[in-house]
Amino acid sequence: MYYKRYLKERKQFGAPLAAFQITQQKLVQMMGNIQAMILVGWRLCKLYESGKMTAGRVSLGKAWITSKARETVSLGRELLGGNGILTDFLVAKAFCDLEPIHTYEGTYEINSLVAAREITGISSFKPAALTQRSRM
Ligand SMILES: Cc1cc2nc3c(=O)[nH]c(=O)nc-3n(C[C@H](O)[C@H](O)[C@H](O)COP(=O)(O)OP(=O)(O)OC[C@H]3O[C@@H](n4cnc5c(N)ncnc54)[C@H](O)[C@@H]3O)c2cc1C
Repeated sequence: MYYKRYLKERKQFGAPLAAFQITQQKLVQMMGNIQAMILVGWRLCKLYESGKMTAGRVSLGKAWITSKARETVSLGRELLGGNGILTDFLVAKAFCDLEPIHTYEGTYEINSLVAAREITGISSFKPAALTQRSRM
């Protein structure tokens, strides 16, 4: 694994980065996020197969997964320090790949609103003040 090799090879304060507790915690958070993202995707597939998919469910999945993916890639960038923003390393590429996914085919915000509409029954796409007619 790319991160494992890098963190074991790069030494600071006389020890490989992999030996520091904060580094290990970030790695675990990344791994947990990746597993959770896979599981949410798997759950969406099952809902689709059983005919129980709804717009709100798919939007919740898309919004949540892209948000967690962003968090995960940020942690990866932190782990590599300055090298995390150089094109020579893969994290910067992952950043560039993820930002469009966070935005296209429904932005994070709009997908959140689609999911929230299904939960509450209230659409907040349009500010309430603009939908009301003036009594003046
Ligand atoms: C790599 C890439 C590929 C794309 N490919 C295609 C394609 O093939 N076909 C295509 O048609 N489009 C494509 N798009 C466009 C994409 O669908 C839009 O970028 C996206 O819908 C957001 O629209 P916008 O950029 O105009 O942002 P805006 O609509 O200007 O929104 C700006 C911000 O305001 C937020 N916002 C907007 N309205 C609300 C609201 N009611 N409540 C809360 N927040 C709100 C948005 O979520 C966003 O964060 C692509 C975009 C990217 C980045």
